[in-house]
Amino acid sequence: MSTRRPTDGGPSPGETASNSTKPTKRRVSYPGAVDRLISELARLPGVGRKSAERLAFFLLKSRDEDALALAEAITAVKKSVRHCTICSNLSDGIACLVCADPARDRRTVLVVEQPKDLIALEDTGMYRGLYHVLLGRLSPLDGVGPEELTVADLLLRIDDPGKNPGGVRVEEVILGLNPTVEGDGTALYLMEQLKPRGVRVTRLARGLPSGSQLEYVNKAVLADAIEGRRAIE
Ligand code: ZN
Repeated sequence: MSTRRPTDGGPSPGETASNSTKPTKRRVSYPGAVDRLISELARLPGVGRKSAERLAFFLLKSRDEDALALAEAITAVKKSVRHCTICSNLSDGIACLVCADPARDRRTVLVVEQPKDLIALEDTGMYRGLYHVLLGRLSPLDGVGPEELTVADLLLRIDDPGKNPGGVRVEEVILGLNPTVEGDGTALYLMEQLKPRGVRVTRLARGLPSGSQLEYVNKAVLADAIEGRRAIE
């Protein structure tokens, strides 16, 4: 058996080149469209070449409408979804559903790293204030500084009530970063920026296991964390 591997796709045992109109090749490979799909899927986080192949064959076997629904969902998300101009949450309008809701307590802003953290906190049903999504956390080693995040927008919301929904002045900022080394570093940085602005700064209670991710913590623990938030010295 040859040890030579094609660079643009794996071998496909059992397949024949009967439907190929291409000139004779030494190895039979996937049709170009299949190869392209595998390559695109393999670019997704956590998806290796083997998984990409599995997914591609799942899609090939799927009914047309199911596979096309996925393609349309990707198109729709790229066309219509953007970041809320106020809090950077995902949104299909200028302001997200939370910022646009007049029933929310607009004096309180809970700072999270990612939209998925916001969703996890919303699922607890315990929080009625607004959010601010940083879209990451400080990570000097990876070259992520405050400028790469939405820190400036957050500070502007504190400094200028006109930038907060309803023109309401922010009275409390709750730091809801993940309890990791980088999350803690980010919280420390934000605290230093926020304290001189005279706003109350609290953080979620440390019932959260160290090193955990908000999105994976169960609702009861998250609800406790919101309830038990405390002022940062
Ligand atoms: Zn928003």
